[in-house]
Amino acid sequence: MPITKQQNVSLKPITTFGVDVKAKELIEFESINQLFEIKFNQYPTKLILGGGSNLLFKQNFNGTIFQNKIKGIEVVNQSETTITLRVGAGESWHEFVLHCVSNNYCGIENLSLIPGTVGAAPIQNIGAYGVEVKDIISEVEVYDTINEQTNTFTNSECKFGYRDSIFKSIYKNRYIITYVHFKLSLTPKISSNYGAINSILVEQKIENPSIKDISNAVIAIRQSKLPDPKKLGNAGSFFKNPVVTNDCFLEIKTKYPSVPSFTVSESHVKIPAGWLIETLGWKGKTIGNCGVHYLQALVLVNYGEASGTEIFDLSEKIIQDVFSNFNIILEREVNIIE
Ligand SMILES: Cc1cc2nc3c(=O)[nH]c(=O)nc-3n(C[C@H](O)[C@H](O)[C@H](O)COP(=O)(O)OP(=O)(O)OC[C@H]3O[C@@H](n4cnc5c(N)ncnc54)[C@H](O)[C@@H]3O)c2cc1C
Repeated sequence: MPITKQQNVSLKPITTFGVDVKAKELIEFESINQLFEIKFNQYPTKLILGGGSNLLFKQNFNGTIFQNKIKGIEVVNQSETTITLRVGAGESWHEFVLHCVSNNYCGIENLSLIPGTVGAAPIQNIGAYGVEVKDIISEVEVYDTINEQTNTFTNSECKFGYRDSIFKSIYKNRYIITYVHFKLSLTPKISSNYGAINSILVEQKIENPSIKDISNAVIAIRQSKLPDPKKLGNAGSFFKNPVVTNDCFLEIKTKYPSVPSFTVSESHVKIPAGWLIETLGWKGKTIGNCGVHYLQALVLVNYGEASGTEIFDLSEKIIQDVFSNFNIILEREVNIIE
């Protein structure tokens, strides 16, 4: 297939927030050879797009969007206990998870039903239910849009952190992820000690869960508490969970003894951003055409006609309120496109 180019394209159907914005140009590519043909240096304003599930466009995008459609899943290495797969960045993340689950490739099942593409998974080191994708990535193949060459990053070179990697920080928008290599286990190591997963397994009287059982439990939990972007525009968790000093945490605990926390080091703890937002009464609140989801305070939703700026302004109000009351600056997890 040749590279496809379209002008003045609506981004509403290809992003999950459902905001009515347009891009000057949309170019779809499906191979590394096509990336060499494109000559990125002639595009001063550009953005790489996967499934559009972690983006908020504040206005029309006056530049070129490059959408990744590179497909394919191949086995590159296999031993008695592990298998390594090389997966095209344009594959659907959830379809890939289901592929692994049905073949009994273990380690990815807790990440079921996360929207988006395989190529975006390393960008913010997607995570859910006690697992992060960094735990199973062995390397990431990229195309460098500045030097016009391919390159490979090992797991440690990606500098994965909590919802972070070099692709979201210092090298944002420079490298196009083309393929991701995943090393999965052929012997199940079930991660079911996450409260909600455990409850479902107990309820269903499953004592020795398979990875399919775990995947099904995760899907059921996510469907029961997260809005489906096809019905209600959203981009999942809008904010990251803040990491604060023990002193800051103790100050909050004096006023709110039930504040939840997770230890991250001797001196720091992580507090769920959803708890901070809910405690200030934002859960279920609507402002104009957007609001905070009634079941999950971390998720901002578009009731249909919201503009990107409206949603951004709502996030600003929440950040300010959390800062005034808890002295914590919330960081956005969603990528804001100006
Ligand atoms: C309902 C819902 C639930 C969610 N739950 C979770 C969750 O549990 N955990 C979690 O971590 N995230 C979650 N997310 C966020 C989102 O699904 C992930 O961040 C996902 O990886 C984004 O994939 P995407 O293909 O849609 O990326 P996009 O939104 O298209 O892009 C995201 C960023 O990655 C860049 N990018 C995308 N593809 C490439 C590429 N091939 N090369 C270089 N840069 C690229 C883009 O430029 C952009 O900066 C959720 C979102 C929704 C809507």
